[in-house]
Amino acid sequence: AAMLISSLAFGTAIATEIKEKSEVDQKVDALLSKMTLDEKIGQLNQYTSRWEMTGPAPKGQSEQELLDMIKSGKVGSMLNVTGAEATRNAQQLAVENSRLGIPMIFGYDVVHGYKTMFPIPLATAASWEPAAAELSASVAAKETAASGVHWTFAPMVDIARDARWGRIMEGAGEDPYLGSVMAAAQVRGFQGASLADENTIAACAKHFAAYGFAEAGRDYNTVEITENTLRNVVLPPFKACADAGVASFMNSFNEIGGVLATANNHLLRDILKGEWNFDGFVVSDWNSIGEIVDHGVAPNKKEAAYLAMKAGSDMDMEGNCYVSQLKELVEEGRIDEALIDDAVRRILKIKFELGLFDDPYRYSNPEKEKTLLNAEHLQAAREVAKKSIVLLKNENQLLPLKKSGQRIAVIGDMADDKDSPLGSWRAQAVTGSAVSLLEGMKNTAADPAIIQFEQGPVFVSNEADFTHHLEFNETDLSGIDEAVALAKQVDVVVMALGENCFQSGEGRSQTDITLKGVQQQLLEAVYAANPNVVVVLMNGRPLVINWMAEHVPAILETWHLGSEAGNAIADVLFGDYNPSGKLPVSFPRAVGQCPIYYNHKSTGRPFDTGLVFWSHYTDESNEPLYPFGYGLSYTTFAYSDLKLSSSEFGLDEEITVSVKVENTGNYAGEEVVQLYIRDLFGSITRPVKELKGFEKISLAPGESKVVEFELSANDLAFYTAEGKWQAEPGDFLLWVGTHSQEGLEAAFSLK
Ligand code: BGC
Repeated sequence: AAMLISSLAFGTAIATEIKEKSEVDQKVDALLSKMTLDEKIGQLNQYTSRWEMTGPAPKGQSEQELLDMIKSGKVGSMLNVTGAEATRNAQQLAVENSRLGIPMIFGYDVVHGYKTMFPIPLATAASWEPAAAELSASVAAKETAASGVHWTFAPMVDIARDARWGRIMEGAGEDPYLGSVMAAAQVRGFQGASLADENTIAACAKHFAAYGFAEAGRDYNTVEITENTLRNVVLPPFKACADAGVASFMNSFNEIGGVLATANNHLLRDILKGEWNFDGFVVSDWNSIGEIVDHGVAPNKKEAAYLAMKAGSDMDMEGNCYVSQLKELVEEGRIDEALIDDAVRRILKIKFELGLFDDPYRYSNPEKEKTLLNAEHLQAAREVAKKSIVLLKNENQLLPLKKSGQRIAVIGDMADDKDSPLGSWRAQAVTGSAVSLLEGMKNTAADPAIIQFEQGPVFVSNEADFTHHLEFNETDLSGIDEAVALAKQVDVVVMALGENCFQSGEGRSQTDITLKGVQQQLLEAVYAANPNVVVVLMNGRPLVINWMAEHVPAILETWHLGSEAGNAIADVLFGDYNPSGKLPVSFPRAVGQCPIYYNHKSTGRPFDTGLVFWSHYTDESNEPLYPFGYGLSYTTFAYSDLKLSSSEFGLDEEITVSVKVENTGNYAGEEVVQLYIRDLFGSITRPVKELKGFEKISLAPGESKVVEFELSANDLAFYTAEGKWQAEPGDFLLWVGTHSQEGLEAAFSLK
């Protein structure tokens, strides 16, 4: 009976959904039939807010011209208009003046929080907890919606293998499987069960596609990628977003095989809107339609608009190409009006789903807005933050620290920094509003008097302007002596080192990913005075920290953790929370290894061939400093009893893989159990290892659990040379373990 009831309920849900969908479609059609060509093109036009611009107005319209365009229905969307009052004022211009009163959709980069900042996305991925990513996105959505913004340009789901690329902080790292799980979780968090709900906003999967593969890690640089790598590595997280019902996609700035992503018929029409049946809309990236000219593919804006519209880019962000050129292209018969109609339909559909036609001010609420940075949201931020921390090293159980009876020095310019932990892309966070490491430690210690602070040398020497161009102090060592003197007096030293938050993010590529400024000098001087050093790393990308890894007994990777950073780090330092994060990205030993990633291919000359000229560097190992999936705990876990329900299975069968994990230490703790496979022979070369499953489990001391994974042919499928997504029968290896380079091994075959 239960089965019957649940299947009936399921049936009703589907029926309602189909009915609702077609209702929206009918409304869209009815509206579309009333629209002039100008009004349609207006829907495809997105401008940034001039009155909030901190930089130069890029396209030259005066504020009056912009207002007139909004009033005449020529601006379908705006970005960077924020706050209940500003969004209401802007929206009023559109709905009260334009002929059809079509509301605008307001977009904004809400990447890891709106007012309450959560950890940067790379950090959240280190939690390996989709629920954490979902929670972060759902709180952000709630705050964003109340401020009258309808749509976030997130999640960024670009796979990134190169730590030089500053935008590595915005994604989930190097792995397509982890990336897909985290991508879908964020979409669920932002969009909730329905876009019509009060606490939801529309999401945007970006940047479609392969933006993370910029040559030499330089932002906006040329991308060389094969269809095979595109399909097997880059596209899976995007597909996961489409499957999760994401409302929109954003183009990437780069080219693929010489064809710009913004003008890429294959990517947008064949794959996204064809194979994947995506029925939301595609927005360009900032002027990426205009940049078709700069790339030398279109001689002018008109041809750029032509190429982008033909290819399936629906909305023009700040390029001013569609609104100024499309009408002429339609009148000349070069662009079929049906193409415009399709783009408009997609945008209107999301506007209807958001409820903008029922209430163009959609849940914006100045009273509620004031209550957003509240205790509940901060608590959620602290929860996610502590789960994002990765323990990289802990010799002699230096950690956790004692809350009293131990003298602790806290050293480093970032230790009392209340701004850097907010991270890059911080939406409406108040500057300097994070809990610093020092504050967090004092809040948490039973006896705050055990903690003493020395700043040491200044880290960043300039005042950040709006571009946040940084200059580092590379010469002035003043402050080191005081730091060293304090270190000598205490039992243990906690040092905050790493990156200022504006070292990573858009346009922040670096050729050197070691510690900038005089941080290394400070570290070595302090360590010489007192070797009991715990480094708290704050950074938005993997860093090269070989000296530190070799000498310093304890290292905690804390990224940029958001509003509650200091409290969350203190939770871990003092043992209130046992760290459970794992690296979502490999940490190189040298920048010259980049791009470095665990799921690489084999060469014809791996080490074990015994050849002198094997594939290697003469001055550095091939191995990363810390591998993908790595992270320690205050306790220890033992893996045993790896079992496969069968060592062979057919294309339409599945097997169960089970492993026993035991907590063999003295602390309760969580472990991310990871399953990897290797396809030993393929019709094309295959990665040496691929993550295919993981589960985070919680174990009391002495407790053990059996973790099970189902494995089917579908998990073994890949995009073949023939352009098919399929699994190939043959022999495989499998590992289950604590990170990508350590696990119990078994073999199986697919028949
Ligand atoms: C970035 C996008 C962002 C957009 C709007 C662009 O420069 O690449 O990720 O959404 O600006 O701010």
